[in-house]
Amino acid sequence: AFEGLSERLQGTMTKIKGKGKVSEADVKDMMREVRFALIEADVNLKVVKEFVKKVSERAAGSDVMDSLTPGQQVVKIVKDELTELMGGEQSKIEFSTKQPTVIMMVGLQGAGKTTTTGKLAGLLRKKHNRKPLLVAADVYRPAAVQQLETVGKQLTIPVFSKGTDISPVEIARQAIEHAKAEHLDTVIIDTAGRLHIDDTLMQELKDIRALKEPDEIFLVVDAMTGQDAVNVAQSFDEAIGITGVVLTKLDGDTRGGAALSIRTVTQKPIKFIGMGEKLDALDVFHPERMASRILGMGDMLSLIEKAQTNVDEEKAKQLEEKFRTSSFTFDDFLEQLAQVKQMGPLDEILKMLPGANKIKGLENAKVDESQMGRVEAIIYSMTKQEKTTPEIINANRKKRIARGSGTSIQDVNRLLKQFEDMKKMMKQMSGMSSKKGKKKMSM
Ligand code: GDP
Ligand code: MG
Repeated sequence: AFEGLSERLQGTMTKIKGKGKVSEADVKDMMREVRFALIEADVNLKVVKEFVKKVSERAAGSDVMDSLTPGQQVVKIVKDELTELMGGEQSKIEFSTKQPTVIMMVGLQGAGKTTTTGKLAGLLRKKHNRKPLLVAADVYRPAAVQQLETVGKQLTIPVFSKGTDISPVEIARQAIEHAKAEHLDTVIIDTAGRLHIDDTLMQELKDIRALKEPDEIFLVVDAMTGQDAVNVAQSFDEAIGITGVVLTKLDGDTRGGAALSIRTVTQKPIKFIGMGEKLDALDVFHPERMASRILGMGDMLSLIEKAQTNVDEEKAKQLEEKFRTSSFTFDDFLEQLAQVKQMGPLDEILKMLPGANKIKGLENAKVDESQMGRVEAIIYSMTKQEKTTPEIINANRKKRIARGSGTSIQDVNRLLKQFEDMKKMMKQMSGMSSKKGKKKMSM
């Protein structure tokens, strides 16, 4: 799913991500491509317009442009707004305090209601320890009752069916009584669909709804139908009021427009997504994860967030000044180490980098954090003067430092060499950037 959309957005985001300086024109260019990508993915036009406007406004904010990593900030804004578009937080399922909880599955024919009824029962049993009862209330197609019975058998979950000669409302009523008697705490009603929305169907759904106010009314829609799915959602919501959406067939070749429009148009959350025909192919919908997936960023954005919360930009600027004037000391070095450590275990950070999953062996990579501990110990064993002017560290001082830090003279030598190399390199880099006069340096 989302191939085209992902590819386009990812291309656009990659272009802007590395930018050390982002101009208004850059943002405009990017927004043009984002708009194009969304329209092509069959996202509702009104939604596209609003999205583009919001991102542009936020991206133009001075705190973005003045930050050390404006390109990355813009990408983060796009991701935040994509997440918001899909509902922000993951939404919870409502269970009743009065037994049983009643969940109605509604939607057009072929959307995936019967399959999803089974999948949902399986998921609720597994994740929420519920005891479900499936209800065959699609009496218009004999095959529909059989289909649900087969699903129930596969999952070993009970199915309440009364053939096709009585009304769906009566079946649902009896099913709720049956669930009470059998202490089954979650009744999931598989209702009939139609090819199109019609009044008879809506009346029937209203009658079932009137039996016991359902805790959830899930509309099942086929993601492949794009904007049609959004229209269907709107109609069902106006007619009977839905509490959430299950978007099916996201495993297929869908352009993704429905996922991005439904929430804004209907104000109803996507709660689950169908990812295949098998009965375990139902996932809880996480807006943020979906946004990351669309942008193909893995956990890159959580990494940016981590860096953002842990790196003090003022300090970073002071640091740059120190490099430029060669007044960088071991104390500054320690501070840098502390900042990196705050971001979390290094091997986890490594794994969050995009493309990291493609690097063989990285999944087992262990960054030697004891090495970092050694470095810190060595620096702590230096005197104040040694930290600011390491040139004075002679053989005697090295011996003392090694003893004090529980390391060897080689360790001390290695660190001193690294420190000198680093200073040289930083000096060159900041020299370059000040000559150009615009390229900012980040850590
Ligand atoms: P209903 O008419 O709404 O009850 O739809 P069904 O549950 O009978 O599903 C219609 C078809 O869609 C069946 O062939 C299902 O296997 C298929 N289907 C349902 N959900 C998914 C899904 O998430 N992915 C895929 N690939 N197929 C699905
Ligand atoms: Mg069905």
